[in-house]
Amino acid sequence: MTMMPAAFLGHGSPMNALEHNRYTEAWRDFGTSIPRPRAILAISAHWYIGTSAVTAMARPRTIHDFFGFPDELFAVDYPAAGDPELAQDVADLVSPTVVSLDADSWGIDHGTWSVLAHVFPDADVPVVQLSVDATKSFEQHLELGARLAPLRERGVLIVGSGNVVHNLRRIDWSALDTGFDWAHRFDDAAHAVMTDSPADLIGIQGHPDFRAAAPTPDHLLPLLYLAGLASAADRPTGVLVDGCTMGSLSMTSYTLY
Ligand code: ZN
Repeated sequence: MTMMPAAFLGHGSPMNALEHNRYTEAWRDFGTSIPRPRAILAISAHWYIGTSAVTAMARPRTIHDFFGFPDELFAVDYPAAGDPELAQDVADLVSPTVVSLDADSWGIDHGTWSVLAHVFPDADVPVVQLSVDATKSFEQHLELGARLAPLRERGVLIVGSGNVVHNLRRIDWSALDTGFDWAHRFDDAAHAVMTDSPADLIGIQGHPDFRAAAPTPDHLLPLLYLAGLASAADRPTGVLVDGCTMGSLSMTSYTLY
C-alpha cells in the first residue's frame, strides 16, 4: 500500500494564486513529485468556525472570501469535484468527535484554491474541506489530525493551508521577502519542533512571540493537523520551502512522507 504524503502549505496573500514565485514553484514541484491522489482533504485557515464540519457536496463552489483584490482574483474558478464518500469517511474516522456533513454552506475557499491552483492546476482531483473548529484546543486539533492518518493509506492527500506566522495588523507592504525578528524567531521555533518531534507543537502556545505571531490561531491551527499525522506516523516533517514576507507572514511549508 502506498502511503500518500501530506503537507502544510503557507499560503500568504490570495494573490499567490496568480503569481509565480519561489513559494508557488515549491507547491507546484510538490504536486508533480507525488503519486496522484484519489482525493484531497484540505484543512484551510479560512473555514474557521465554531464546529467541525466537512464539505459533503458533489460540486463545491469556489468561494472568494476576501475583498480589496483585483477582479482577476475574483474571476478565479477552481472547479474540482467534491467527494461525498470521503466526507463520510472523515466523519466515521474521527467519531465520537462529531464532524457534520455540510451540504450547502461552504465550498472551496481561497486558503485551499490559492495553493491547489499550483499543486493541481487542472483541478482534476476531488476536494473535500474540513473546517478548523475555533472551540477546540491545540491538543484536540493534533488528535484530530492523528485520527485522519488512515486516509493516507487510501490515496488521500491531506493538505493544511495557513501560515505559521500571520499578523495582518503588523504587515509592512515594503518588507517583501523579509520578516520581523519576532516573526523569524517564532518561525524558527516551529521549524525546530516540526523537524524533530511534531507532537510538541502544542507547546508553541507558550513561546514568548506567540501573541505577535498568532494573534488569532486560525492560520497556525492547520499545521497541528500535519503535526498529528506526523506523530501518528512517528516521523518528523521536512521543510518544503521557508521564509517570511511582508514582515509579519511566514511562508514556510512542511511535508510528511
Ligand atoms: Zn489566509
